[in-house]
Amino acid sequence: MTAAPEEYLVPGTAISFNSLPKVSLHDHLDGGLRASTIIELADEIGLELPSTDEFDLADWFEENADSGSLTDYIATFDLTIGVMQTRAGLIRVAREFVTDLAADGVVYGEVRWAPEQHLTQGLSLDEVVEAVQEGIELGTDDARGEGRSIRVGQLLSAMRHQRRGLEIAELAVRHRDAGVVGFDIAGPELGYPAKDQLAAFDYLAQNFMPATVHAGEADGLDSIRGALFDGRALRLGHGVRIAEDIEIERQDDDNTYVSLGLLSQWVKDREIALELSPSSNLQTGAIAEWGDELADHPFDLLYQLGFQVTVNTDNRLMSNTSISRELALLTDAFGYDLADIEVFQLNAAAAAFLPVEDREDLADAISEGFDAL
Ligand SMILES: [Zn+2]
Repeated sequence: MTAAPEEYLVPGTAISFNSLPKVSLHDHLDGGLRASTIIELADEIGLELPSTDEFDLADWFEENADSGSLTDYIATFDLTIGVMQTRAGLIRVAREFVTDLAADGVVYGEVRWAPEQHLTQGLSLDEVVEAVQEGIELGTDDARGEGRSIRVGQLLSAMRHQRRGLEIAELAVRHRDAGVVGFDIAGPELGYPAKDQLAAFDYLAQNFMPATVHAGEADGLDSIRGALFDGRALRLGHGVRIAEDIEIERQDDDNTYVSLGLLSQWVKDREIALELSPSSNLQTGAIAEWGDELADHPFDLLYQLGFQVTVNTDNRLMSNTSISRELALLTDAFGYDLADIEVFQLNAAAAAFLPVEDREDLADAISEGFDAL
């Protein structure tokens, strides 16, 4: 069963954002559950919920995630992770994750999650990765049955306040030919720099396993520097605070004159993709320095300056969102058109943790989809 996604129209057209071929690089498995699934799985294991009404529960997640604090935001995950401790629970959540993305028009996605948080019922690290992979494959088949083509790879996250980074890096490498495409570190950014997981990042580099690193969300430029230097990150999740390294000199009617620091210049010149997640960045306070509305998000500044911006959801449940909705919100805030939206998808395709031929095929498929409109 696929939940019908909410439709959003590209302004001035009859084209639905949902129908556009899209790429999703930053979407947490434990942040994208259906409220109805949480209720059913919680009932099976006797986990108490703040509400057993699907709509009330969805509201509860959004309200609690909306506190402006990353720590409070992360606390909502206790419930979702609580129902993802069994093989059946993991398979179901991963399967629905894929069908929900496909129903929203995503053609390629990467799903990130932290295996070490799913061991309380006795499953091993390898078993939880295998369960999620089984769910992904079932979801891919379901989508195909509904006439939708989607491919989804796993990104294994190590929790940055734990000390299991190397173990998770080894797990990622072990499953590289069985669905895992990369590594990430997640959890509290402030006080837990990438350097703390140096053994993991060294191991990944030696084994040519790509990494994306949460940085520039709850901490600033030093964290981004650490992600690139210690983590050898090929992408930044979300990287939004790279804008702190961009000085606006002056603005006139037509132009904004800026100067870039060495760090932001490097991120731009090396085309390091920014996994921006507008609604989440607003909710967690990551863009507080620039304002408290979506229109204050430095997304457009970064885009206009030529950074590799990509559009992501981060946690669809906590932000009550989808890629289509994020694109609709950005379009509303910054007046984007279909050509801009296509650029965001091509940026994401170029930054996908796929072999170069597959990235080119993905880019071709996206361009064909937009050309056919
Ligand atoms: Zn994230």
